Amino acid sequence: MPDALLPTAAEFDTYLDSIRRLVRDALIPAEPRLDGQETLPEDLTLRLAEIGLFGISIPSRWGGLGLTMEQQVRVMFEVTYASAVYRARFSTTIGLGSQPILYNGTDAQRAEWLPRMASGAATAAFALTEPEAGSDAGGVRTLALRDGDDFVINGSKRYITNARQADVFIVMARTEAGTRDAAGISAFIVPAGTPGLSCGPADRKMGQDGSATSEVFFDDVRVPASALIGGREGGGFKTAMRGINHARLHVAVTCVGQAQRLLDETLAYVKQRNQFGQPLAEFQLVQAHLADSRADVLAARSMILETARAFDAAGEAQGGIIADIACCKLFASEMLGRVADRAVQLHGGAGYMRGMVVEQLFRDARLFRIFEGASDIQRLLIGKTMVRA
Ligand SMILES: Cc1cc2nc3c(=O)[nH]c(=O)nc-3n(C[C@H](O)[C@H](O)[C@H](O)COP(=O)(O)OP(=O)(O)OC[C@H]3O[C@@H](n4cnc5c(N)ncnc54)[C@H](O)[C@@H]3O)c2cc1C
Repeated sequence: MPDALLPTAAEFDTYLDSIRRLVRDALIPAEPRLDGQETLPEDLTLRLAEIGLFGISIPSRWGGLGLTMEQQVRVMFEVTYASAVYRARFSTTIGLGSQPILYNGTDAQRAEWLPRMASGAATAAFALTEPEAGSDAGGVRTLALRDGDDFVINGSKRYITNARQADVFIVMARTEAGTRDAAGISAFIVPAGTPGLSCGPADRKMGQDGSATSEVFFDDVRVPASALIGGREGGGFKTAMRGINHARLHVAVTCVGQAQRLLDETLAYVKQRNQFGQPLAEFQLVQAHLADSRADVLAARSMILETARAFDAAGEAQGGIIADIACCKLFASEMLGRVADRAVQLHGGAGYMRGMVVEQLFRDARLFRIFEGASDIQRLLIGKTMVRA
C-alpha cells in the first residue's frame, strides 16, 4: 500500500544508520542474555519498538513507518545480523498479524488494531498450525460456528510464535462444518484474554532461546461477527496470503542476515587460528569454503532485493510473484544451512562448543527450512506454478 509519507532517500539512509548502531551497540552485546530465556527481555523489546520496527510494514496514517518492501528488506538485512530472536519478537506483528487486516480488514478493524501494532503496544500472533494441519494447512479442524450475531470457536493450535506474549491472535478457523479444504476457512481477530482462550507452556526447542512458541486452546471462545476479517466468511487463506507472502520474504531476508554474521564470525576466526605454522585463512581449501559461502550469501541477497522490487511494483496484484517469493524462501533457507555448516566446520572443535556464536546460530538456522512452509512445500508450489503457467 503506497505511503504518502514515504521517507526520502536521505531520511531512509539515516534510519538505516540508526538500525546499524542499535544492532552493534545493543542487540549483539545482549545476545548472551537470551540463553535459556522464554522470551525477549522487556528492555530489549522496548528498544525494538522505540526504533519503529513493529511498524515498518504499516502505513504512516496508522502510525507505522510505511516502508516499501525493498526498504523493509534493507532494514531487515541489518536487524537479522544480530540473533534472529530479536526479529522473531516483532515478525508476527509486521507480517501475518497486521497485513491481513491492512489489506483485507474493515476500516474499523484497521483503526482498532493497526496503530497499536505499529507502536509495539499490541503484539500479534498468527494461529494456523494444528496437530493435524501442518504443511496441509487447508486441513484446519478448528471450528468457528455462527451463533446468532457471534461465532463460537473450538479447537487447538500448536507451535504458535509469540502466543504467550500476544495481545491479539489472527485465527484461521473453519466456518463451514463438513468442508475439508481451504475454501471453508475464515480468518478472525481474537483478542488475548477472551474467555475460553488459553495458551500452553512454552515449547522446549532446539534453538532460538528467547523466542517462544506454544499451543493455543479455544474452548467455546465467543467473538462477535465483527471479528471476522473483512466481514467475509470463507477465503481465509486469500485474506492471509498477503501476510504469508510478506512472512516468507522476510524469512528469506533473515537467512541472509544470519548467514552474513556466520561468515564474518568465521573469517575472523580463521584469520587468528594457527595450524601447521600459519593462520587457517591462508590455506586455499579454507578459502574455498569461504568463497562458496560468500557466493551463496550474495546470490540470496540479490534475488531477495529483485523480488522485493517486484513485490512493490505488483501492488495489489501479487499472483505473479508468489513463486518467486517461494524461490527466495527456499534458496535462502537452504543457503543458510550450508553456510552455518561450513562455519561450524571451519571452527573445528570450538564450533561445537556451547557459548560460541556459530554453535548458537547453527541451531537457530535449522528452523528456517521448516516453518513458513518447509523447503519441499516451496518446491511443490514453485513446480506447480511452472507447470500450470
Ligand atoms: C519454531 C516454530 C515456530 C512456528 N510458528 C508458527 C506460527 O507462529 N503460526 C503457525 O500457524 N505455525 C507456526 N509454526 C508451524 C510451522 O509452520 C509448521 O511446523 C510447518 O508448516 C510444517 O508443518 P508440520 O510441522 O506439521 O510438518 P509436516 O506437515 O508434518 O511435514 C513434515 C515433513 O514432511 C514434508 N511434507 C509434507 N507434505 C508433503 C508433500 N505433500 N510432499 C512432500 N513432502 C511433504 C514437509 O516438507 C516436512 O519436511 C511454527 C513452527 C516452528 C517449529
